[in-house]
Amino acid sequence: MSFFKKMDTNSTSANKADNTSGEVEHVKCLIIGSGPAGYTAAIYAARANLNPVLIQGMQAGGQLTTTTEIDNFPGYPEGTDGTSLMEDIKKQAERFGTDIRWGTVTEVDFSGDIHKLVIDGEKTITADAVIISTGATAKYLGLESEEKYKGGGVSACATCDGFFYRGKDVAVVGGGDTAIEEASYLAGLCNKVYLIVRKNYFRASKAMQERVAEISNIEILFEHNTKEIIGDGSVVTGAKLIKRKGEADESEVEIKIDGFFLAIGHNPNSEVFKPYIDTDETGYIITNDGMKTNVKGVFACGDVQDTVYRQAITAAGSGCMAALDSERYLAEK
Ligand code: NDP
Repeated sequence: MSFFKKMDTNSTSANKADNTSGEVEHVKCLIIGSGPAGYTAAIYAARANLNPVLIQGMQAGGQLTTTTEIDNFPGYPEGTDGTSLMEDIKKQAERFGTDIRWGTVTEVDFSGDIHKLVIDGEKTITADAVIISTGATAKYLGLESEEKYKGGGVSACATCDGFFYRGKDVAVVGGGDTAIEEASYLAGLCNKVYLIVRKNYFRASKAMQERVAEISNIEILFEHNTKEIIGDGSVVTGAKLIKRKGEADESEVEIKIDGFFLAIGHNPNSEVFKPYIDTDETGYIITNDGMKTNVKGVFACGDVQDTVYRQAITAAGSGCMAALDSERYLAEK
């Protein structure tokens, strides 16, 4: 049961209770998340005089800050990198007066007309309109050994951690665009990269497949699954893989590696909103009629609600839509 649901049983002290560390602050438009969707929503909301407050979340700048080259974001004919792109969009949001703050939303109450949110378990903010742009987080395989070696060779971010594996052998798991991007990046730093793909084909786009085929120090292991990550107790030294060619044809293979990188997709960051906001079975927020959720005055944009496109530019576009929808909602309220 949520904090606010508990407090509703004693409405006379509700304000006092909502205020976990001082006065309750009220804002017109609260944006949660600082990826391309959140910052773009902020640019539009700020220009519409909604005085947006943006709560950055755990990963300021969002997932793009963990990628290298971005060649497909319009307006950058020579390409750019994720961190620079996010810095640019952030500066643009600030230029129009967005109030950007550190923090994570830990509680929500969307039961009334005014939406209540708690930041870091301490501060309560109420808002007329809320824009959820919390993105998605990397998935792991769920192996015990993977958990054991997180921070000791197991990582879900090649651009963050690849540097530590210069000249070494590493593996990347996944068959999508991210896996190929991560493997290509690591190939530039490492001696050898094993790309572990569970099917006998890639899910990645044709362009990315062509790119990986040209890199000589990437060995693609189709139809392989990771059974266990091996280590010396503190760091990764190898991995046991199952090579599978049909029901009756399985064999175990061992590779020697120092780093094990996950690139098998993402989970939407919607958990805290689920008591109020409708999601699909995998947790993606359901939006309808523009970027509206099932709760009036609460909108969602970017990867937390996108099961199909998941691009920086589509996230930015949906951020713009969520801000316009919020503006309209507030005007009619
Ligand atoms: P995807 O969902 O596209 O791919 C995930 C991959 O991981 C699939 O190959 C999947 O295998 C595999 N996988 C999932 N679970 C497991 C598991 N338990 N064990 C082994 N393998 C597993 O995710 P991405 O992160 O690659 O891409 C997300 C979106 O972002 C896509 O739309 C992509 O196009 C886009 N993107 C675009 C880039 C660009 O344009 N530069 C760069 C990066 C991402 P299977 O195929 O068998 O299901």
